[in-house]
Amino acid sequence: MNSDVVIIGAGIIGAATAYELARLGVSVTVVDRGALAGGTTSGGEGNLLVSDKPPGPELDLARDSLTRWHTLGFGPEVELEDKGGILVARTPEAATALAHLTKTHREVGVDARDITPEELAEREPHLTRDVAAAAHYPEDCQVQPVLATAALLTAARRLGAVLMTGAAVTGIEPGRAVHTSRGTVSTAQVVVAAGPWSGSVAALAGADLPIQPRRGVVLVTSPVPTMVHHKVYDASYLAAVASDDAGLQASAVVEGTPAGPILIGSTRERIGFDATIRVAALRILAQGAVSLFPALSGVRVMRAYGGFRPYAPDHLPVIGEDPHHPGLWYATGHEGAGIGLAPATGALLAALLTGGTPTVDPIPFSPGRFA
Ligand SMILES: Cc1cc2nc3c(=O)[nH]c(=O)nc-3n(C[C@H](O)[C@H](O)[C@H](O)COP(=O)(O)OP(=O)(O)OC[C@H]3O[C@@H](n4cnc5c(N)ncnc54)[C@H](O)[C@@H]3O)c2cc1C
Repeated sequence: MNSDVVIIGAGIIGAATAYELARLGVSVTVVDRGALAGGTTSGGEGNLLVSDKPPGPELDLARDSLTRWHTLGFGPEVELEDKGGILVARTPEAATALAHLTKTHREVGVDARDITPEELAEREPHLTRDVAAAAHYPEDCQVQPVLATAALLTAARRLGAVLMTGAAVTGIEPGRAVHTSRGTVSTAQVVVAAGPWSGSVAALAGADLPIQPRRGVVLVTSPVPTMVHHKVYDASYLAAVASDDAGLQASAVVEGTPAGPILIGSTRERIGFDATIRVAALRILAQGAVSLFPALSGVRVMRAYGGFRPYAPDHLPVIGEDPHHPGLWYATGHEGAGIGLAPATGALLAALLTGGTPTVDPIPFSPGRFA
């Protein structure tokens, strides 16, 4: 078998990259050892956020991506919902930090609105009144990650892309071939989009890529009548996201879903690929959610699930060609934002690989930065 490009990983990033390359007429084969979206993509939420990204390269990528999510032509089939985000500060210090964030966001053109207690109560009637300040981000949205991955891969396959599931990659010869448990694909270009496993996949080509798993767990309640209208989160979440601490970080992130269950996230810890669900961590999540929405204390938890975010040491995605291994490309390291960042990542990788003009500055995401 022969293909211009082989993408390793059929998660949201591999799917978006396949779609963008196929759109440019490149022949693409996507290989995955499991089914589509069977990795981290099925273990997270689907928020497409600008509110949690301070001005900088990740925000630029997120804004480019958000525009693309809206022009892909997807809608209810991927549960695309323009719900907006609400950040709440619970202390005077957090309120000062939130006011600074919304100001810097407005300066770069993000729709960030400081809202009054009355407007907050109107937008989220069940939210606690014990709030020092709040901000509304109308641009924040949500998709269902597995449905979105399937939709992107379906669109890519319509354009000629090939999907090989159940094909574990066992060897990579950059510039020549990818060897899998289902046979060899000859190719000049390989894209590693293997999420938190990207480091071990890159090692098959003799490359060194510092991606680690950052574990996260989400609680799911039984279905309830609509109680949470936006994605609502404690502003302390921003510090948890940016933290380099390997220990447990938890901050309340609460959102409803079209089917009725409420998702309560999320934890962050670097403990390798340990998938044990710890009651202590779930308790912290539940307490945080009830503190924001007291009515949740009477709602039953249905289940918990989790995944491993692909963590890069500087919290930025890795998108581009390995300077030491020509023909070996990366689209990975999106940590807790890979669903939101997927369309822009696919477009950036496709532009770089085909010699096109990127719509965002590729330098901050360059794999060469680790050298
Ligand atoms: C709790 C939690 C909440 C989250 N919430 C959000 C959110 O609200 N918004 C957001 O944008 N992001 C969120 N994320 C992050 C998001 O889920 C990830 O950034 C994203 O799914 C990464 O996608 P990916 O395609 O890079 O990786 P994956 O989905 O992990 O895909 C990688 C694929 O590579 C395959 N693979 C690995 N090794 C091999 C091999 N040797 N051979 C063949 N195939 C291989 C795997 O089977 C897998 O299917 C969350 C994550 C977690 C854990």
